[in-house]
Amino acid sequence: MGSVSSWRQHDHKTAGRTGGGRERSMKRRDFFHLGAVAGAGALLPAACASPQQDLSRPVAGNDASALWKRDLAVVNGRIVTLEDAQPAAEAVLVRQGRITLVGTTDQVTREAGSAPRFDAAGRTVVPGFVDPHVHFEMACNALSYQVACHTPPLTSLREIKDALRMKAAGTPPGEWIIGRGSFGMAGRVEEGHLPERAELDAVTEDHPLILYSGFHVAMINTRGLKELGLWDDDTNVPRGAILHRDASGAPTGVATEIWPMPPAYSVDQVKASLRAHARDLYVSKGITSISTLPLVGTDLVADQALQASGDLPIRLRAYYHVPHLLTLEGFLGMGLVQGFGTDMFRVGGVKIFVDGAGGDGLDRRFADFKWTQEELDSFVLRAHSHGVQLMMHAVTDPGHQMIEAAVEATLAREPASLRPRIEHGGDVEDIERVRRLARLGIIPVITPQQERATAPRTRPRTTPRYRTLVEAGVMPAACSDATGTVPVFSPLGAIASLVASPEEGGGTPPGEELTFDDALRMHTIWAARSGFEDDDRGSLAVGKFGDLAVLSADHEGMTGGELYDLRVDATILGGEVVFER
Ligand SMILES: [Zn+2]
Repeated sequence: MGSVSSWRQHDHKTAGRTGGGRERSMKRRDFFHLGAVAGAGALLPAACASPQQDLSRPVAGNDASALWKRDLAVVNGRIVTLEDAQPAAEAVLVRQGRITLVGTTDQVTREAGSAPRFDAAGRTVVPGFVDPHVHFEMACNALSYQVACHTPPLTSLREIKDALRMKAAGTPPGEWIIGRGSFGMAGRVEEGHLPERAELDAVTEDHPLILYSGFHVAMINTRGLKELGLWDDDTNVPRGAILHRDASGAPTGVATEIWPMPPAYSVDQVKASLRAHARDLYVSKGITSISTLPLVGTDLVADQALQASGDLPIRLRAYYHVPHLLTLEGFLGMGLVQGFGTDMFRVGGVKIFVDGAGGDGLDRRFADFKWTQEELDSFVLRAHSHGVQLMMHAVTDPGHQMIEAAVEATLAREPASLRPRIEHGGDVEDIERVRRLARLGIIPVITPQQERATAPRTRPRTTPRYRTLVEAGVMPAACSDATGTVPVFSPLGAIASLVASPEEGGGTPPGEELTFDDALRMHTIWAARSGFEDDDRGSLAVGKFGDLAVLSADHEGMTGGELYDLRVDATILGGEVVFER
């Protein structure tokens, strides 16, 4: 079986290098996402209004700054401030959305006047959780419009195909059917392989269909391949993608990195899915701030419209996929300075993929690098010299080392740190590498829950060494990286997995367990720091936002295993109770 790939970012000489099969030449697309959307314009499903149309509609009163600025006195709590000067307190006073006093219940009660009271009744109160890497809109869209094909609960391709068939039966012909499955589907179904094109054609030939295993690996039916322009030749194969072909040259249906290609959801569709799911997925988990990675601009239009109408009580920071959403030049050309925005919505930096799935989708392991070292060095330097923070996705160790080398080379020329991030970093064994991360100021952004979800272990683990990282002075941030692949997540569950020993169900090797406070820091102050937002959130101090999560019990004295039973009882944003169980 041959594969066609185009995993180098700029190197024309290596275009079309294959993983052992026949080579094909292919035309490079510098703006493949824009090209794909334009090319697929006629293919938008009937229910999916044109995004362009939606964008021309003004967002009424596009200003959420008057909202979530309330007075509130939170009293009788076990308050974990994460501030060295005053780590513990009983009460917090919020005035017009910001903290004005942290102290005893008596002190706060005296100062509170007519401010509403929230009686924490002895429960633990922590800073509102910050999720520093979420595909916020995508995760909500997945629940609203896509077919849940996760394993578990499903156990076989037969069940997955039944679920897709049922969706197709209720969907007008021509509209897309998208299935969302777990990472590593082949290893999680009875049949032990990924379904190829013919199997999906048997599900439906009347609809274009994509079934994802995780987010980077996709299986596409014939109609879908044709509609994405992937059938006849490789002109439309996105950079960094791999399209597998059989001996006859026809696509097998298995591909990686085609996620930017299907038509986008309209603003109204995104608004509807956010209304339906943002509360359950995020607000009820105590999350008050998110760094989101929109797939298209319409995602952000929907976010801002809902914030402005008071329907989205979450602070957002947007990071832009380069080159999928726009180029670095396009981003710089907007003239927006990082951090520009309001208390509710700010411009962040840029997200790039250094590798992707870390393989070809068929478990033939190799690092599917999107760049040469030289290209990455020059990109990191260019972004850095323009003050643009980089989120750099890499799931393989060689990918991590490429990033470390690029940051090192950049810092030699531009010493100011822009808090460069490795998304899915932190899985480092070598102590010298750990020290290097600390020295370079690189922030590993980890996904504790996905590690549990994706890595059934056959041998004792030696990584991730989170405690070693923390003790070396690295300040890792923990995220959900939710896209719809792992449908259920919560910062509290992740904290429990970081604190609990392996016997208690924890996710770290023995000796690498964290204290509750450090695990909490990863989800609050260090997460805020990873987005340059630690000066106004992530801990409880005078002047910071009145964003808090009230837990279901007093955590003090709980074992790691017992922490799994903690829930969020209330979420407070800018002094307003936006969720209460
Ligand atoms: Zn992600």
